[in-house]
Amino acid sequence: MAELNIRKTGMAEALHHEIVTHKDTRRVSEYFGENTFHLDKMRECLTEDAYRIVKDAIEHGTPVDRAVADQIATAMKDWAISKGATHYTHWFQPLTGATAEKHDGFFKPIGPGKAIERFEGDLLVQQEPDASSFPNGGIRNTFEARGYTAWDPSSPAFVIDGTLCIPTVFISYTGEALDYKMPLLKALLAVEDAAKNVCQYFDKNVTNVKATLGWEQEYFLVDLDLFNGRPDLLMTGRTVFGHSPAKGQQLDDHYFGSIPGRAQAFMKEFEYEAHLLGIPVTTRHNEVAPNQFECAPMFEEVNLANDHNLLLMDVMEKVAKKHNFRVLLHEKPFAGINGSGKHNNWSLGTNTGVNLLQPGKNPKSNMQFLTFFVNTIKAIKDNADLLRASIASASNDHRLGANEAPPAIISVFIGTQLTKMLDELEKSISAGKMTPEAKTELKLNIGKIPQILLDNTDRNRTSPFAFTGNKFEFRAVGSTANCAHAMTVLNTIVARQLIDFKENVDKAIAGGDKKDEAILKELQKLITDSKKIRFEGNGYGDEWVEEAEKRGLSNMKDTPRALDVWARKETKDLFGNLEILSPVEIEARHEIELENYILKLQIEARVIGDLAKNHIMPAAIEYQNILIKNVKGLKDVLGAEESKEAGRTQINFIKSISKHINSMNDITNDMITARKEANAIEDTREKAYAYCDNVKSLFDEIRYHADKLEIMVDDDMWPLPKLRELLFTK
Ligand code: ADP
Ligand code: MG
Repeated sequence: MAELNIRKTGMAEALHHEIVTHKDTRRVSEYFGENTFHLDKMRECLTEDAYRIVKDAIEHGTPVDRAVADQIATAMKDWAISKGATHYTHWFQPLTGATAEKHDGFFKPIGPGKAIERFEGDLLVQQEPDASSFPNGGIRNTFEARGYTAWDPSSPAFVIDGTLCIPTVFISYTGEALDYKMPLLKALLAVEDAAKNVCQYFDKNVTNVKATLGWEQEYFLVDLDLFNGRPDLLMTGRTVFGHSPAKGQQLDDHYFGSIPGRAQAFMKEFEYEAHLLGIPVTTRHNEVAPNQFECAPMFEEVNLANDHNLLLMDVMEKVAKKHNFRVLLHEKPFAGINGSGKHNNWSLGTNTGVNLLQPGKNPKSNMQFLTFFVNTIKAIKDNADLLRASIASASNDHRLGANEAPPAIISVFIGTQLTKMLDELEKSISAGKMTPEAKTELKLNIGKIPQILLDNTDRNRTSPFAFTGNKFEFRAVGSTANCAHAMTVLNTIVARQLIDFKENVDKAIAGGDKKDEAILKELQKLITDSKKIRFEGNGYGDEWVEEAEKRGLSNMKDTPRALDVWARKETKDLFGNLEILSPVEIEARHEIELENYILKLQIEARVIGDLAKNHIMPAAIEYQNILIKNVKGLKDVLGAEESKEAGRTQINFIKSISKHINSMNDITNDMITARKEANAIEDTREKAYAYCDNVKSLFDEIRYHADKLEIMVDDDMWPLPKLRELLFTK
């Protein structure tokens, strides 16, 4: 069985990979953003008027007229060609989760033997990808056959692998969003407008607010040859079988340890590529599990940060292959050890340079801080189910609540000091008119926040939504996710809450309350109302599951159930009233996510069936045959009586192998039957439920037997690279 040794040769080769990285000796500051067509570059090549118009478009979303678009297109084309680009593409984010592009050449023949390089405003502004096979949840079938992509000037175009990529939204001809970017842009406009209006209570100089995102991307690195020996990794991104290695992460020796040389060479190179593309990655370190790592950038405006994350995931995958690695972005590539998330650090920043979630230097700025802080908590409390749905996926289901990731219960952690502060505020604001003394004391208390936070850096890694001193960190987002989805929901619910807050405070002021008093009283109401979402304890413990249930918090453990929130009337009202997603778009998204879920599980189910029957059972039988031969041989040599004792272990192994093979085969057959039954269901939601409850529920049972066989069968005969090899090969 020579080919079985792919495993061993893969291991041996892994040790001999040459460590090479990029040869550019310049400082990062000299080449940062070199491959992007950013605003400074536009200033160099546009007329002053055109520059001003595009700057406005970037900062305020104002439209760009055709003449200016032509000018920008020409400048962009010349710049891109100088960077070696021969093609251009509209780069967009269909609801498959990946990014999509369709390349067209700049080159255009204009007669026999003659050609020009061409790229005009209309090609920049709008394109019609032949995209009939992108998921659309029925929208394009119902309304129109085609969709188009439209330029998003707020995210700079970039050149990668000889192609000019232009970030765009993807819309149907009837105006429905077919992507993740479009609703995100709308949600950002909503929250930024609402926040700006609330800021007017505190500072009239605030004319512009931007939501900010700093993501932290976790991932695993595995050797490419070993990866290729695992059909499950290849097809699903995770290992569906595999006995836990003798050593896992219990020693915690990988976390913040020194980064192994080969991995470091890979990191240096993808960071270099990222910097050329203007992606401000700054941090790299090992994560908790073996061969698990994290990278994080400086935060940016949400839309740009998200484009950068998607682009970086692409860059990482490309660079990894050059280093004979595969990067695993899946949320749970290996059962039993930590999964990967993508923490979304989120805040709101003003044009005056203030971070609205950072306590300030005086009572007034702290009132502003408290206002945004408390309103965010209230938004989470009112919309916990939506937030949960925004991070739901087949792959994240493996991670959430799996003992080293936030549970599927949404709660907010704020730290002991701020908890005390909110509790005091709640008590000290009286319902009627406040006395001047009470007000002074309150203001004094509010003024104390910065010292409190400086002394207190308490962190709670088990919370899905934690305040970390100057931002909230949404930790339940999965490592493969397009953050746009979670960010659309978060910014929408905060926008809604800020609008309601302003309305109530204005009403109280109109009714005769002083501004400060009106704000404080409204905050008090919000504090009281959102108490149950606040949780400071261990989010990984079983006690929390019980406690959360008592509090009436939802715990939706799987994707199909979590997604049901999209069908609620409140959801449609929320997104509809703010004009972020129409009911039709919401229904389409719900449908698409269910379909994605079904497809992912369908593929997993097939891979599990194939591996069980075509890889694991044959290897087990082959080894069993060797044992049988041995037992027969012992009988020949020692005689029936004596060989019984001499072959005792082998005989037990033979029986045990049969037992596991039978069980594994029986359950696999049950799973295949359940899959066929699920496939016959017409209704998408019902089908997703069936996959979840009847098909996926058998995966672990099959695995149990496969993993038992793995530890019995001769190592030389085992056909799949083992978890210890995938995790510890450096
Ligand atoms: P840590 O939380 O590990 O102490 P940082 O405070 O630097 O580290 O933040 C971690 C992540 O939070 C980084 O990705 C960073 O860009 C992001 N971040 C910091 N400030 C903000 C902010 N105001 N808005 C959004 N993200 C932020
Ligand atoms: Mg973090």
